[in-house]
Amino acid sequence: MSASFRLGRIAGVPVGVNWSVLVIFALIAAGLSAGQFPRAYPDHAMAAYVAAGIGAAVVFLLGLLAHEVSHAVIAKRNGIAVKGITLWLFGGVAELQGEAESPGAELRIAGIGPLVSLVIGGIFGGIAALLAAGGADNLAVGALAWLAGINVALAVFNILPAAPLDGGRLLRAALWKWRGDRTWAAVISARAGRVLGWLLIAFGLIQFLLGAAAGGLWLALIGWFLLGAAGAEERQAEVGQALSGIKVSDVMSSNPQTVPPNIRVAEFIDQYLFGYRHTVFPLAEDGRPVGLVSLDRVRQVPPDQRERTGLREVACAEKDLTIASPEEPLTELLPRLSQCADGRALVVAEGRLVGIVSPSDVNRAMLRGSMRDPGHRPERAQPGAPRLGWREP
Ligand SMILES: [Zn+2]
Repeated sequence: MSASFRLGRIAGVPVGVNWSVLVIFALIAAGLSAGQFPRAYPDHAMAAYVAAGIGAAVVFLLGLLAHEVSHAVIAKRNGIAVKGITLWLFGGVAELQGEAESPGAELRIAGIGPLVSLVIGGIFGGIAALLAAGGADNLAVGALAWLAGINVALAVFNILPAAPLDGGRLLRAALWKWRGDRTWAAVISARAGRVLGWLLIAFGLIQFLLGAAAGGLWLALIGWFLLGAAGAEERQAEVGQALSGIKVSDVMSSNPQTVPPNIRVAEFIDQYLFGYRHTVFPLAEDGRPVGLVSLDRVRQVPPDQRERTGLREVACAEKDLTIASPEEPLTELLPRLSQCADGRALVVAEGRLVGIVSPSDVNRAMLRGSMRDPGHRPERAQPGAPRLGWREP
């Protein structure tokens, strides 16, 4: 989910919102101020309902943000980089760049979110109860009570044991701990996600037919989203399975042809692009990678500007490069590959460029891995281990 607006950083993590968050904001604010609040707490001015509805919607989104930030903070504490947090149509996402190293880390990262939502719900519930006891205005109490309820609901929904929900990660952590096979655990929790997706769609359609049109559609839409996300997680688990045990050095092309960073585009085209078969060249200074240039990037420079344009100006900058180490498992590199470097990673050992990994290197490794006989995997050979139908290419 890409952010349409950047809000800033929280705990060092970039936070943004996708425009689609406006849909949930509008649905909640309108639903509360024009429907639920006037019905439940009559005899207030319209402005009071609108203020309570908008206020509750804003605080709800802040609670959602706190939930995601908690995932991000714990992930970072467990050594996983976090690309960013984005709020969107179906809540929030904290994009982690890597996977938990142990079931315990997975459990902590996944568990903290629902816990935070639960605590937020408890706090609002407590405040609402205190205000109610003190005889405060019932609309204000009602808005706080709604916030309490929605945050508890968020926690409960999120611990349903189905990927990609937090509960799916908790299930994965538990199964992983139990059998010691992370991929199997990931496949099971992704399948549970698909089941939940279908259930929500079915529930939603029933509600729709029974007359609760908006709520039913919303539920079905969430189910449909879960279905897609769970399917993607299952495929990802299979990729992990195919690539397990493969190191970056196994697939990289060694000692790639490099280019000095301070030449002009024209010189690069004459000497390198026409001189070698490659379409992508790392820029290197004393053996250290400082950028990456591709045919596509150079092509964007009009012919009459090639003499004037420095190669560095069109290259993917050093800070945007994806750097890998030769010993690193390939599966850990995949989530870090970026658009900037055309999906390539530069492999560096002791500060020197030693290789490059391209998307076709990864594809080849994946195809080869998927041809391996799963029966030869030690963790699959245990008696009684469930047989999973790995998809063959
Ligand atoms: Zn969560």
